[in-house]
This record gives sequence, C-alpha cells and structure tokens, in this order.
Amino acid sequence: MYKQTKTGEYMRIDIITVLPELIEPFTRESILGRAQKKGLAEIHVHNLRDYTADKHKRVDDYPFGGAAGMLIQCQPLDACISALKAERKYDEIIFTAPDGETFNQPMANELSLKENIIIICGHYKGIDYRIREHLITREVSIGDYVLTGGELAAAVMADSIVRVIPGVIGDVESALSDSFQDNLLEPPVYTRPAQYHPVSNPEETWAVPDILLSGHEAKIREWEYEQAVARTKRLRPDLLE
Ligand code: SAH
Repeated sequence: MYKQTKTGEYMRIDIITVLPELIEPFTRESILGRAQKKGLAEIHVHNLRDYTADKHKRVDDYPFGGAAGMLIQCQPLDACISALKAERKYDEIIFTAPDGETFNQPMANELSLKENIIIICGHYKGIDYRIREHLITREVSIGDYVLTGGELAAAVMADSIVRVIPGVIGDVESALSDSFQDNLLEPPVYTRPAQYHPVSNPEETWAVPDILLSGHEAKIREWEYEQAVARTKRLRPDLLE
C-alpha cells in the first residue's frame, strides 16, 4: 500500500505547523526551491488546523495540573501524522523541541540520506506529551534557547538537510568544504578584486593572500587545510578533540 518514491537522490519532508504561512515562503526560495524544481526534494507544509475535529478549529487546550500556557492537543497531531503515514512509510517523525538532541552537521548529513521524514513544529507551551511518547521517533533542538514555535527550527533543519542532498548544490565540493564537514571550520575565502581599497581610506590596500593567486593547486589546498586547522584550533578547539 505504501507508495515508494525513492528515485536515488530524492527526499520528501512533511512539516506540520499551526503557522504554514510562516514557513511556506521559505520552502519555495533559494536552495529549497531549487532542489524542488530539480526534482531532488519535495517539501509539503501541512496546516494542523485542517486536521482538528473541533468545530471552532481549535488545536490547543489548557495543561492538566494547572501549569501556565496552552498545549497542542493529541487529536489533530495524531490525525495529521496518521493521514501521512497512510500514504507512505516515514523514516523519522521528528519533533522540534528545546530539550531534544542538538542539531548539527552530522545529523543533517544523516537525515539527508532518508527518504521521507516528518517535522512537527510545536507552539504555545508545546504539545501533549503522549504524542512524544507514542508517535515521535526523534526530538531535535536547534540550540539552547527557547523559540516561540518550531517553525524556525524546521526551516533550519530542512535547509541544512536539503543542501547536502547530492545534486542540490551544483558544486558538491562547495557543500563538502563548508564548516563542520570533517569537523573543520572553513578556511578564509576571498573573491575579486584581488586588491581592494576601502572607502574609509582609499590609499590602503586589502590584499588577498598571494598563495591563492599563485596557481599552484596542491600548495593552495595545503594552505587552505592549514588555515582551516588553525581557525578551528582558535575558534572551536572542541571540534578537534
Ligand atoms: N515549554 C517548552 C517550550 C515551548 S516553546 C519547554 O520548556 O521545553 C514552543 C515550541 O517551539 C516547542 O514546542 C518547539 O516545537 C519549538 N522550539 C522552541 N525552542 C526550540 C529549540 N531550541 N529547538 C527546536 N524547537 C524549539
């Protein structure tokens, strides 16, 4: 009954949210938009309110026990997830949560190899814990701070996952030389002109390191590697441990 959609390098991401208008435009632009036009990824945004059984379209209610704030209820989330699962097999059902495992590049790489994933955006005080206990396969935080909703977290994740799907960025080398791939930060990068005269003092020259203009491919790679190691040592020594 499951529709098998994998055609090699292809991925589908379903995002469940109470604010589709916040995240939909983001999924149509830049890398995400391009990946979808190339047929390498599909991103579907679902409005949780379309799945509520409540006649006033409510999706939230007060927490038991008298805590402050509102919680998204089980019913609309269960209905939306069930509807999606009836259509295809999902590799992960991810909940965006400040207390989840911290998102990073290895996780983005790993998730980019999946075929179908769901990302659920919480809102208000969060979601009924039973959804986390019974339906969620993974909980992911984008950092130790609290956002108003999971939409920004879902956007961050979708962007960094999709850009490492082979073929999405024309130049694969470019995606693989970014910071955090190989646990190294990016070396310094420069573009034309090779000599720049700043507005504040046109007599002054900001020059590009000579080595980059030398044409010695091997020496340039060696320099870039040394610079990457030096910057990582200085700025993020934890990555080298
Ligand atoms: N009461 C919750 C916070 C709710 S914030 C708590 O104390 O943990 C509302 C929603 O925003 C969350 O359900 C989650 O989906 C999203 N969110 C907030 N901060 C986030 C973060 N750092 N990473 C990922 N999602 C986050």
